[in-house]
Amino acid sequence: MPTSRLNIQATSGKQYIYSFTEGGAEGDATMKNLLGGKGANLAEMANIGLPVPPGFTLSTEVCTYYYDHSQTYPEGLFEQDIPDALEKIETALGKKFGDPEDPLLVSVRSGARASMPGMMDTILNLGLNDTTVEGLAHRSGNPRFAWDCYRRFVQMYGDVVMDLKPQDSKHSDPFESILDEHKKKKGCSLDTQLDTDDLKAIVSAFKAAILERTGQEFPEDPHVQLQGAIGAVFGSWNNERAIVYRKLNHIPGYWGTACNVQAMVFGNMGDRSGTGVAFTRDAATGENIFYGEYLMNAQGEDVVAGTRTPLKIRHLQEEKPDIYQQLDCIRTRLEQHYRDMMDIEFTIENDRLFMLQCRVGKRTGLAAIRIAYDMCKEGLIDEKEALLRIEPDQLNQLLRPVFDQKEKDRAISEGRLLATGLNAGPGAATGSICFSARQAQEVKERGQLAILVRIETSPEDIEGMSLAEGILTERGGMTSHAALVARQMGKVCVAGCGELDIDYQKGEMRIEGTDIVLKEGDSISLDGTTGEVIQGEIKTRNPEVIEVLADKTLKPEDAPTWQIFDQVMQWADHYRTLKVRTNADQPEQAELAVTFGAEGIGLCRTEHMFFGGQRIDAMREMILADDIGDRQKALEKLLPYQRDDFYGLFKAMGSRPVTIRLLDPPLHEFLPQEDAEIEALAKKIGMAFHDVKTRIDNLHEFNPMLGLRGCRLGILHPEIPAMQVRAIIEAACIIKKEGHDIIPEIMVPLVSTVRELELTSEIIHKVARRVMAEQEIGVTYLVGTMIEVPRAALTSGDIAKAADFFSYGTNDLTQMGLGMSRDDSGQFLPVYQNYDIFPHNPFESLDQEGIGRLIKLSAKEGRSVKSDLKLGICGEHGGDPATIEFCHTTGINYVSCSPFRIPIARLAAARAAIG
Ligand code: PEP
Ligand code: MG
Repeated sequence: MPTSRLNIQATSGKQYIYSFTEGGAEGDATMKNLLGGKGANLAEMANIGLPVPPGFTLSTEVCTYYYDHSQTYPEGLFEQDIPDALEKIETALGKKFGDPEDPLLVSVRSGARASMPGMMDTILNLGLNDTTVEGLAHRSGNPRFAWDCYRRFVQMYGDVVMDLKPQDSKHSDPFESILDEHKKKKGCSLDTQLDTDDLKAIVSAFKAAILERTGQEFPEDPHVQLQGAIGAVFGSWNNERAIVYRKLNHIPGYWGTACNVQAMVFGNMGDRSGTGVAFTRDAATGENIFYGEYLMNAQGEDVVAGTRTPLKIRHLQEEKPDIYQQLDCIRTRLEQHYRDMMDIEFTIENDRLFMLQCRVGKRTGLAAIRIAYDMCKEGLIDEKEALLRIEPDQLNQLLRPVFDQKEKDRAISEGRLLATGLNAGPGAATGSICFSARQAQEVKERGQLAILVRIETSPEDIEGMSLAEGILTERGGMTSHAALVARQMGKVCVAGCGELDIDYQKGEMRIEGTDIVLKEGDSISLDGTTGEVIQGEIKTRNPEVIEVLADKTLKPEDAPTWQIFDQVMQWADHYRTLKVRTNADQPEQAELAVTFGAEGIGLCRTEHMFFGGQRIDAMREMILADDIGDRQKALEKLLPYQRDDFYGLFKAMGSRPVTIRLLDPPLHEFLPQEDAEIEALAKKIGMAFHDVKTRIDNLHEFNPMLGLRGCRLGILHPEIPAMQVRAIIEAACIIKKEGHDIIPEIMVPLVSTVRELELTSEIIHKVARRVMAEQEIGVTYLVGTMIEVPRAALTSGDIAKAADFFSYGTNDLTQMGLGMSRDDSGQFLPVYQNYDIFPHNPFESLDQEGIGRLIKLSAKEGRSVKSDLKLGICGEHGGDPATIEFCHTTGINYVSCSPFRIPIARLAAARAAIG
């Protein structure tokens, strides 16, 4: 190498490699985009003097270069830059890469901007070959250790770089089969029982298998090994599981990954060595305790793979008090430095502690809110930062059901407690046992709930995990893949449940020490908060926050989680400027929404009020009426129902604003379709079957969403909005007489021209004046419109002249703006997302570039006519944090969402305001 280096230019002056060594690094924690999370934090730990083995990071720009240039590297990278960086490690440690006497060994790991646990590849012990293994054996005085490292390296390299994998899911891993064969021959069950000669034989067998199956020799040259490993790491950015993970977590493909090459330290050197992972606080509950696991005489992959169940960190305090003490100091140091809960990886080599990784720890929603709250109280962060630390959607976990305690106690007293594992992801889940991700998908497609049951999970299971209600594993600890991913997804998870004996082939699971056998499809329940696995279904119950706020079965003073939640919500309310309303059409819904913090109703869909009991009959009679006289009679029957509905809503909302939308959907949606139902209806309203059927047929539309609906209904049949307005104003008059001041906001749907709004407004004002005269009392009311047709958005300047407010109906605006049916897009949107046509489902999170542009234009034009024009959003996007941020920056006054999303919206609005 050194001779050729003289003649070759380094990589065109651009820095692609960043070195780090204890006490100093070329990078730091702010450089995540370039160095990936792992590389940036290794540099940071080195900078603050933590014991980090030396190494270097190939930046994400190498990865993007690699993909932009047909999988080749910047010129000079392997000829000069990497050898230079290796030399720095060699100097720091006094060892040489490939030295037969005292070889430097390295690890090669991926590390993207955002952590993607287990998604990409890692190779350890690189630099070993038939010669250097002898040097390592000699230097360490431990030949068994050296051959164990070599065995692991050949296995990892063969798998990751040379792609020697099982032929299909029925075949086992070729390396594991060889290992098992040797163990069987020797009559032992543990890897640790294999001696040096066994390991030598295994290495030979591994190499022979590689040659036989790939036609290629295992490379002996450490530099060739290094180039292969780096290629595999960059290649793994685009493996299938990484792509799935990126999609689920909205990580763009263009980011690329960095690649970290670092001197090896060995946790598998014997009983004075070990390796572990830990969180500086409990990642499941947020409690301020040191939470971790470790294994002695092991390498990193043994802990995360979940194949051996590790020990709790408190045992380390007894086993190695000095190391524990050092680790505990590092824990405090890291929290003070990063001002966050950190997730760390460490190795002990012959009683010396090394830090291999640190990153901001993933946490459950419960932990996120508690850690943010505690750290604020501890003075580590301020209120604003505390709010920024909680992802709005994480609040869902505080609003998620738990088991009905009585039902659970009964199940346990009936002997249905099958086993107890680790409480890896809190919450309660119940569903059918599925032994594979595919089964979970099938169960979900049948509309049932799935519990994914696996011996241990691997990243390939990720899609199944996202579909399942809960995840149960036989092996693995709190930091195993299953536990990490489940917590991140907010899934219920019980991990490392050793009493289970799962047999995929037979599709069954036995419970150790009993004769209980559970089959695929049987019901099972998981308590992810206690780790209990229970046979059969158990009803779930609302969590503490819901018990306090909605059920009122728990007093606030007895509910510590609620207290934290409440404080965080108060902070959010202090910082946000955007108002949060709810979509509700029942008084109970409205009351619940108020307890969640709703500041008004942004959308009451009056059509929901026409279902049930006698009201649907009166509604159908109205629709089927032959002439205006008959229609009027039916409407008179509906009037008292509507008046009571509105009265109930106004009462529930106190003096808060209530937006009531006039009837919107096409009339045929209210009519029966089956002959038997038509027959029954005809009898009830005294019409002939044939007449009813003909009328229904006449109302049939080819494209009802673009047909006779919205304001068009009222323009054709003014008596319908007249009845609704009468009901609204009568209810408001009654409320006013009772001493409350309510300002109803009457909203006209599906307007596309100002003339439609003007015509409908005339009806509204005429009826309102008449009712107020009859009631001998005046009420203030507003008349506004939905902006949900693109033409309305484009002519908002005109429309604003006739409107007191606009409410963006982003469901229809998206549907019409994209020309994409909101009911039928499920068929093609997943494919669209695969092709990155839309990064998110545009019916969930606003298409800000397109539909958002319409909204911005509309808001600007509307406000240029009326500077105080009130603007709201009431489509489903109103509860989506990204859309809420958009609304904040666009100057919208309020968002409106379903009651359970109100806390999420309050937090999202505060985060948007904080910026
Ligand atoms: C909308 O279109 O966004 C809206 C709120 O109305 P609906 O969903 O009832 O059509
Ligand atoms: Mg609509």
